[in-house]
Amino acid sequence: MHQQTTVIRDADWIVGFNSQTGRHQFLRGQDVAFSGDRIVHVGGRYDGPSTTEIDGSGRMVSPGLVNIHSHPLSEPLNKGFLDELASAGLYQSSLYEFMALFGPDDEGRLACTEVALSEALLSGVTTLVDLSVPYEGWLDLLSRSGLRAVAAPMYRSAHWFTRNGHVTEYEWNEAAGEAAMRAALDVIDRADADPSGRLSGMIAPAQIDTCTAELIRDSHAEARRRGLKMQIHAAQSVVEFQEITRRHGRTPIEWLEDLGVLDSHTIIGHAIFLNDHPWVHWPQGRDLERLAASGAAVAHCPTVFQRRGMSLRSFGRYLRAGATLGIGTDTYPHNMLEELRHALINSRLMSGNVFDLRTSDVFDAATVGGGRILGRSDIGRIEVGAKADLFLADVTHPAMRPVRDPLRSLIYVAAERAVTDVFVDGRQVVRAGEVLAFDLSSALGRLEAAQRRAEIAFTDRDFKKRSHLTASPLSYELADG
Ligand SMILES: [Zn+2]
Repeated sequence: MHQQTTVIRDADWIVGFNSQTGRHQFLRGQDVAFSGDRIVHVGGRYDGPSTTEIDGSGRMVSPGLVNIHSHPLSEPLNKGFLDELASAGLYQSSLYEFMALFGPDDEGRLACTEVALSEALLSGVTTLVDLSVPYEGWLDLLSRSGLRAVAAPMYRSAHWFTRNGHVTEYEWNEAAGEAAMRAALDVIDRADADPSGRLSGMIAPAQIDTCTAELIRDSHAEARRRGLKMQIHAAQSVVEFQEITRRHGRTPIEWLEDLGVLDSHTIIGHAIFLNDHPWVHWPQGRDLERLAASGAAVAHCPTVFQRRGMSLRSFGRYLRAGATLGIGTDTYPHNMLEELRHALINSRLMSGNVFDLRTSDVFDAATVGGGRILGRSDIGRIEVGAKADLFLADVTHPAMRPVRDPLRSLIYVAAERAVTDVFVDGRQVVRAGEVLAFDLSSALGRLEAAQRRAEIAFTDRDFKKRSHLTASPLSYELADG
């Protein structure tokens, strides 16, 4: 069988990778070619054989984005419900009171996932870490999407709840946590065996406050044994910071270090509440220093936190301390380009310094940086020999023009509106702004029906037996008639 070879001819802009400098660079009016799943030519003119030729005039060729943290199974359903909802008694988090009350049923999960994966693809994502509680049909959807997907089946020893909206309690079942971990390892084995070759696994004890010390240690040992990464939510809320300091007299970062799991095998979502964050004020710690020295990575997802007035302080400061950061979409929309914009704006607002963070810093974090966090040097870069994971953006789109710097036009203004085509492993997964794997409009219809069902189910699940409209009122009252 002959390899399919595609050449993108005379691209207006190419974000190519310079292996000498170890950095991306712009190329203008040149060619990119890929054959099978690999890039075979970057820059100048490609004169080899090709089966498909794409006119690159009016196009930017960009490396595909690496999204290291997402929850496709549930997040799309929360649109319109969680945007400005939080528990006033729980330091403005929505996690402990509302997250469990408004969720998708079995059918809704599939619709959520199809919508989320589509949103990610349409914003130029080619690799996605999906942190989900495993469900029937999950791996099949990931495989069908065409994405390079890292299945991170979450498990935990406890679930959290509140009886009053101001105290978070934990109900423990250690044996169930261990059983769920074993089941998660089976899911990871099945992901590895997927015939697409695009699926892999990640070990995912869900949250630092819901997993026993043993479960976290066992998870880390399993990650090391398998050569995989482990991801855990930690330092993500004031409630959790106080819970860990109350239980152990240590900050979340210190406690992970005590457990022996704070190292390069570990990714922390979201590492916001370090000891020196003003909302927790724990002045004797050295969390940022510990984090940076450990080699553990941070999954930074600014959108979901900024909705509740929270932010990591700051991306630029963490980078200068030597910490490793990647970017993810913890919430709807699964729009990586908007997430990059928010990362830049949050960093500048928190530091009060326009120079705190540059466009190149976040683009690196979302491409080569995300690849490195996942242990891969063959994704997030347009370089001969790398995987043909890339996207095309229309630089003639009104939102991109005038084009002086195509990445700034894309990140600060146009975002997904300019993304036209996406390739993973050299296979086209988005064409002319349409996801090829899913019928997005049908998925959205099913998602809306699932959201209506979730509204009805809300009252029964709520400790105060509120209606969804009382808990999260609409922007304006609904008029009669
Ligand atoms: Zn998360």
